[in-house]
Amino acid sequence: MDKSVVDELVAIFGKENVLTAHEDMIAYSYDAAHVEIKPEVVVFATDTLQVSKLMKLAYREDIPVTPRGQGSGLSGGSVPLQQGIVLAMDRMKKVIDFDPANRLITVECGITTSDIDPIAAEAGLFYPPDPGSVAFSTIGGNIAENAGGLRGLKYGVTKDYVQMMKVVLPMGDIVTLGSKCVKHVAGFNTEAIFVGSEGLLGIMTEVTLSLLPIPQHRESALAIFDSLDNAAQTVSDIIAAGVTPSTMEFMDNETINAIQNFKDCGLPRDAQAVLLIETDGEEASAKGEIAKVKEVVEANRATDFAIAKNTEERDNLFAGRRVALNALASVRPNLILEDATVMRSRLPDMVRGIIDIAARHQVKVGIFGHAGDGNLHPTFLLDMKDAEEKARVDAAVKELFQLAIDLEGTISGEHGVGLEKKPYLMDQIGAPGIRLLQDIKRTLDPKNLLNPGKMFDMPATVSA
Ligand SMILES: Cc1cc2nc3c(=O)[nH]c(=O)nc-3n(C[C@H](O)[C@H](O)[C@H](O)COP(=O)(O)OP(=O)(O)OC[C@H]3O[C@@H](n4cnc5c(N)ncnc54)[C@H](O)[C@@H]3O)c2cc1C
Repeated sequence: MDKSVVDELVAIFGKENVLTAHEDMIAYSYDAAHVEIKPEVVVFATDTLQVSKLMKLAYREDIPVTPRGQGSGLSGGSVPLQQGIVLAMDRMKKVIDFDPANRLITVECGITTSDIDPIAAEAGLFYPPDPGSVAFSTIGGNIAENAGGLRGLKYGVTKDYVQMMKVVLPMGDIVTLGSKCVKHVAGFNTEAIFVGSEGLLGIMTEVTLSLLPIPQHRESALAIFDSLDNAAQTVSDIIAAGVTPSTMEFMDNETINAIQNFKDCGLPRDAQAVLLIETDGEEASAKGEIAKVKEVVEANRATDFAIAKNTEERDNLFAGRRVALNALASVRPNLILEDATVMRSRLPDMVRGIIDIAARHQVKVGIFGHAGDGNLHPTFLLDMKDAEEKARVDAAVKELFQLAIDLEGTISGEHGVGLEKKPYLMDQIGAPGIRLLQDIKRTLDPKNLLNPGKMFDMPATVSA
């Protein structure tokens, strides 16, 4: 990159917030997916105005810019495909305003997700979206990916908690979208366009999130099955019985054993599947719901159903689920984690389909995930250096996406399209759907400079 441009970046961000050394670029060349492309420069924003100045400079000089939170994304979203500048947001971490009376908190978008709850808890409130990466992901990354998590079944996902946001548009304009009011219909629902925008439409710098009262009581249980089918059917039957647990997580035998090898969380190694189920609310209601869950679990021939007796037992159950991905990552040299999602009633078909696909292609798969909202994470375990094995896994993944679409599901429930699922988006939304996305992108970013090459390609005429 031209020295004059680097000098301008130093003038905007300060010397301590600009990296150019080759070895520094390595840390910003990948996320939790598989691509590695080094940027030319990394800048750390500390306020909104800097971000605006950066985008004006990028537009003048035709330089691609890729926003980055903590790089924990699972679809390649923060990888700088066309190099240029990585805009790191993780130094914008301030809490701007905590308003318990209106159950709102306004933060800078580089704050770590789990930093919100201790503040909210001071007033008996909590922030429900709870991705497995809560301890390191940023709120900006959560918004850009519309992150879900373990509590999505009852409490929804990030989009359900975004009230208002400050966004820097690709050409540098600063806009404030949404409102702190519960109701707001003055203009289009523009803030919604930026939730799930994967860093393609603008840079979120500040956000006002809504909070909920902490549930009075929780009941957590582990249901153990010697049949995958019965476990999957149980998920569907619990919802059909009118119970909405706050958490209903699924783990198969491969995942259970990977966890136990990684960290002893007391999971039964010989089970074909377990369900981690939690109900919450008023004490009587949480207890009543877990009793109904037990009935459904027993009707589906579970071999055991144990309710955690204390917080320590509960924390142990959840610890197992939270390390599932890391544990599976230690089984083989590489993994390919998917998040194809179906309606809950189709979950048994989905689980059967995944097993069938894995068997036909002779690939190793661990299945875990947020079964309560139909969002499974089939995780293919492989050695990428083995080209023949990689080809079999690629074929299995392609079939998996087609299965999800055939079951009226989606190729991604929460990890986004990025680079990983870009080849499959056309199958999901069709050519008119892609054209609509391109039109929106072109309107906001006519030179295609903000996170170019992700999610879909732009026609050559508007490329930078
Ligand atoms: C162990 C593990 C568990 C996970 N569990 C879950 C889970 O349960 N649910 C779930 O949904 N995801 C999960 N994820 C995926 C990931 O953590 C989420 O996608 C998270 O939202 C990414 O946040 P981040 O700050 O790391 O963003 P990054 O990975 O840095 O960026 C993600 C995308 O957001 C864009 N972006 C980042 N910040 C901004 C901003 N301020 N403005 C505009 N665009 C921005 C980037 O350009 C990129 O496209 C998990 C990941 C890991 C490694």
